[in-house]
Amino acid sequence: MSYYVTHLESAIDGTHFPPDQLHTTHSGRPLWVRYDLEAVRRSVDRDQLIRRPSGLWRYRELLPLPPGHEPVTLGETITPLLPAGELGRLCGVQNLWIKDESRLPGGTFKSRGMTLAISMARRFGVKRVALPTAGNAGGAAALYAAAAGMEAFVFMPDDTPAVNQYEAALAGARVYRVRGLISDCGNIVRSLQHETGWLDLSTLREPYRLEGKKTMGLELAEQFQWRLPDVILYPTGGGTGLIGMWKAFQELSTLGWLNSEKLPRMVAVQSDGCCPIVRAFQRGERFAQPFPNAHTIASGIRVPSAVGDFMMLDTLRASQGTAVAVPEASIPDWMRIATRLTGIPICPEAAACVGALQKLAAEGWIHPEEHVVLFNTATALKYVETIQTPIPEWKGKLER
Ligand SMILES: *Cc1c(COP(=O)(O)O)cnc(C)c1O
Repeated sequence: MSYYVTHLESAIDGTHFPPDQLHTTHSGRPLWVRYDLEAVRRSVDRDQLIRRPSGLWRYRELLPLPPGHEPVTLGETITPLLPAGELGRLCGVQNLWIKDESRLPGGTFKSRGMTLAISMARRFGVKRVALPTAGNAGGAAALYAAAAGMEAFVFMPDDTPAVNQYEAALAGARVYRVRGLISDCGNIVRSLQHETGWLDLSTLREPYRLEGKKTMGLELAEQFQWRLPDVILYPTGGGTGLIGMWKAFQELSTLGWLNSEKLPRMVAVQSDGCCPIVRAFQRGERFAQPFPNAHTIASGIRVPSAVGDFMMLDTLRASQGTAVAVPEASIPDWMRIATRLTGIPICPEAAACVGALQKLAAEGWIHPEEHVVLFNTATALKYVETIQTPIPEWKGKLER
């Protein structure tokens, strides 16, 4: 197998960097991984590729790990695309699918990014990684670092869901609770970088987690027989999924692998308790202001300020998409309703997307017959605080 990565490219000013050295950011902003897609097109057959073993590493030619390097993997399965007719009808659409990421290692799609980030870290000889996290990324980093025999340091706000704190500790990471926000955690990681020599795995501060998230778009194309849905609803925090999927669609389009050139409209969904991207989108700005007093039980999207803000906003505009903030107080209700109608353990972040779907369908922005995909980015079971409910004690007979 050949290697198709040509260079890394600054997302802010286009500067090129060689692909065979470890690079993180340029001017504090993210880097793209670029491929020779002409060469991929000549040597890879789309229909061969989907006969490879199930899992995201089947797209190896579109991933940055060079041949001869073994991936650090925990078996990232191709996630199911489940029809959700009842829930769709409740929200006002006839063709709704849920891409259920809850069964990936660690119960969240953060494993897609981490299998790439940790594989590349090992490839460059990194022995120690660190990251600030709103929750699930810390757990995933700890699991993949454990699989690679690497040291991991995880810094989380002290009100991060308990499961996220314990899962990272269980996997042997050095976990610290920080009195403050994820941005304060990020400052700690950066301030100690020189002294510790660790690789900072923060969202979009190394270029490879994005490539892992890109595989959501590749899988979706494959699952829809290379014809993409009309609308994708995505709970947006740091934005790697939104940006990564759009990158996947561009690459697939360049490769000529799509049966229809019509690309999905991308919808960024946030809570009104933390919606910097929605605000910037509505104001027509390219960069987002930090969101003050950010709060939401959907911890994965509690990101008040993101280095990839302009990449998210560019994606929304290029795809003729939109950005929606849903009322924070409605999230637990949507979790219950959606889980009861589908049987899928809907996380608070995905529940926000259900609320957004209903709003956009009611406004006519989504038409009833359009094909819509909603991402369930984690299992509800990771949110013990949110799903708590009084369970009556058995007193010998059924009540009422
Ligand atoms: C991290 C996370 C998100 C946000 O993902 P980004 O791609 O960084 O925007 C959404 N949902 C869950 C459950 C998460 O853990």
